[in-house]
Amino acid sequence: MNYSQIKKFLNYLKIKKYHPVNYKKCEICNCKKTKEITLKSSWGNNKWGVLPVHCCVNCGFIFQNPRFDKHVYQEYYNNAYRNITLESIKPPKTFLDDQKKRGELLFKFIKKYIPKKGSMLDVGCSAGMMLLPFLRNGWKCSGNDPVESHIEYGRNKYQLSLEAIQAEDMVLKKNSLDLIIIMGSLEHVYDMNIVMEKCEKAIKKNGILVLEARGNPLGYTKNYFNLSHHRYFYENTMQLTMRKYGWEPFLTTTYPITGDSRENTQFCIGKYKGNNIKKTFKSLIKNGKRETYLDMFYKFKYFNYRAKNIKHLIAKIGK
Ligand SMILES: [Zn+2]
Repeated sequence: MNYSQIKKFLNYLKIKKYHPVNYKKCEICNCKKTKEITLKSSWGNNKWGVLPVHCCVNCGFIFQNPRFDKHVYQEYYNNAYRNITLESIKPPKTFLDDQKKRGELLFKFIKKYIPKKGSMLDVGCSAGMMLLPFLRNGWKCSGNDPVESHIEYGRNKYQLSLEAIQAEDMVLKKNSLDLIIIMGSLEHVYDMNIVMEKCEKAIKKNGILVLEARGNPLGYTKNYFNLSHHRYFYENTMQLTMRKYGWEPFLTTTYPITGDSRENTQFCIGKYKGNNIKKTFKSLIKNGKRETYLDMFYKFKYFNYRAKNIKHLIAKIGK
């Protein structure tokens, strides 16, 4: 991004001070070489502008590159947050109901992989409604999220043990958790490695991690790449993320585990095994557990192609 592109973007975010950008190494494999997948992303409100997304040439991870420093995102977040809270202090009922439903479905699905009772954490929990079925079944539950009004709601209305913090700042007791769920939040955090390191320290041997991320684009990729997603996970990169921190993924799927309210979501579930898994991480990529730049480039080209052609196809089938 050049000076004027950066200025334009900061203006859009209503940030007056100039902030430089930095090119980042791949957050999964630490490779310095990345290549542009798209130059423009959605800035929201039907506006698209320069905000490049790159692909790591070593492992195929897709992430925003370059990046601003943490403060820019915090300032943007605080501004946006104020706008949101002025409109509604309480999270909307439809959102809460959906979260409750998703929690029920997750519990039902995950039951066979977790102990009867234990301790769990929801990273990026919003109002914490996904914890309710676990609580009802005797689990000790906690959660965190940066959106204060949502945390307040869960605390006041359901007496949940929730904390209004950024996931990077969470303080977790070592070796204390049987289950961690990160449902669509790892894309949003500023530093995913800090978050994963903290989760690893807190998980018990054989503890379960559930990662959920948005999956393939549903239409044109110009709407898919956006301001608030710092990175995009797919099957391979979800599994690599798990393995880097000692979890052995045993299920990676686009099957709608938590229902159909988030149409393009995908899941990876793993069991914590520790160093045995961690030490194989780098050689795995070298030995082919990777996607090439072209794999990823054509992945998105394919979704644009499909978005363009799907109407014709539907028309044809209809006849
Ligand atoms: Zn990489």
